[in-house]
Amino acid sequence: MAQRVAASDGGTKRSSSSRVRVAVRLRPYMCKPDEKGEGPCVRGLDSQNLEIINWRNATETVKYHFDVFHGEQTSQQEVFLASVKPILPHILNGQNASVFAYGPTGAGKTHTMLGSSEQPGVIPRAVCEVFKLVKAKDVDEGWDYSIGMSYLEIYNEKVLDLLSPGSQDLPIREDKDKNILIPGLTHMAISSFSDYEKHFIPASLNRTTASTKLNQRSSRSHAILLIKVVRTQRALPHRQQTGKLYLVDLAGSEDNRRTGNQGIRLKESGAINLSLFTLSKVVDSLNAGTAVRVPYRDSKLTRLLQDSLGGSAHSVMITNIAPEYKYYFDTFSALNFAAKSKLIVNKPFTQETVAVPALPVKRPREDREAGGSGI
Ligand code: ADP
Ligand code: MG
Repeated sequence: MAQRVAASDGGTKRSSSSRVRVAVRLRPYMCKPDEKGEGPCVRGLDSQNLEIINWRNATETVKYHFDVFHGEQTSQQEVFLASVKPILPHILNGQNASVFAYGPTGAGKTHTMLGSSEQPGVIPRAVCEVFKLVKAKDVDEGWDYSIGMSYLEIYNEKVLDLLSPGSQDLPIREDKDKNILIPGLTHMAISSFSDYEKHFIPASLNRTTASTKLNQRSSRSHAILLIKVVRTQRALPHRQQTGKLYLVDLAGSEDNRRTGNQGIRLKESGAINLSLFTLSKVVDSLNAGTAVRVPYRDSKLTRLLQDSLGGSAHSVMITNIAPEYKYYFDTFSALNFAAKSKLIVNKPFTQETVAVPALPVKRPREDREAGGSGI
C-alpha cells in the first residue's frame, strides 16, 4: 500500500479522497475442545503486514500489506481509534462516511461492529462519539445540530426497514443534488445515546430472532445503521447541511458454492450475493484510482452507498479474518479482495520460520477451490 499512498498523495485530489482505506483484523485462534489443534495458518507481522501459508508451496508464505493490520490482541478501543474515530468529525460538516465489516461468517464482523456489553464495538462507540462531538461544538460557530438514525437490512436485493418490522422492499432514489434517499424509511430523531439504544436494541434483537428461523439469514444479509447529522445555520439564510454515516455489518463473504446450500444455489445462482459481489467491484475501481466506471448501480448496497463510498466520502473497510485452517480459502479470498491492488510479496518460508510450532505447514483441503489470484 505504501506505493499507492505515495501515488495518490502526488496525484489528483479525487483519487486521494476516493480511496477506501482497508484495515484487516485477525481474530484470536479459537480451538474447540474436541478439535485437534492445528495452529493458525495466518499471522501478523507488524502494524501493516501479515502472512499466510502458500498452499501451492508450503515452504512459502504470501505477505500482504494493508493500511492497517490489527492483530489478535487488538482491543475494540484500538480498532475504533485507528480506523473509525478519525472520520467522524466530517459528518458534522455535511460530509458522508461509511464503515464496513467484511469477511467470512465466524471471522468477527459482528464482534467488530457491534461487540458485546463488555466489549462494545464500532457502532456504539461511534454513536457515542458523534454525540460527544456535537456537544463539544462551539455555540459561537452559529449552527444547530440534530441527530437521527435509520436501521435497515439488504437481503436478497430487498431493502427492509428494521425499525418498522414487516415493511416491504423499499425503493432507493437519487435527488437532483445526487443525494441518495430511501422514501418511506423510518428515521428516528435521537437526542442521546440511550435514545439510540432504545430503538436499536429491539430492532437488532428482532433481526437475530428472525435470522435463526430463516436459517442463518444474518450471514447472508447486510445490516446497515445510518446515523444522520443535520446542521442548520442559526442566522439567515439558515443554510442546512446533512452528513451521513453508514455502519455496515456485511453478509458473510464465504463461497456458498463450497458450503453447498441448495436453496441459495437455486435462488441466487451464480452471483450468490449480488451486493457483496458488486461492492468488491466498486472498492476495486475506487482503489484503482483510474477513470473506470464505478458500478454503483449494479446492486442495492452499492446504490444505497453511492454518495457515501468513494467520491468525497470517507470510507473504511475492516476485513475480518480467522486464523484456523478451516477458513483458509475464505481468508485467502478475503485478503485478495482487500488487497487486490496492494503489494503482494512472495517470501520464502525459511527453515527458521517453519520451525515455529504456532504456524505448522499443512496442506489445506479443497485445493481446487483456492481461487488464488496472484500466486
Ligand atoms: P461474524 O459476524 O463475522 O460471523 P462474529 O463476530 O459472530 O463473526 O464472531 C465469531 C465468534 O468469534 C464470536 O463468538 C465472537 O465473539 C468471537 N470473536 C470474533 N472476533 C473476536 C475478537 N477480536 N476477540 C475475541 N473474540 C472474537
Ligand atoms: Mg455476524
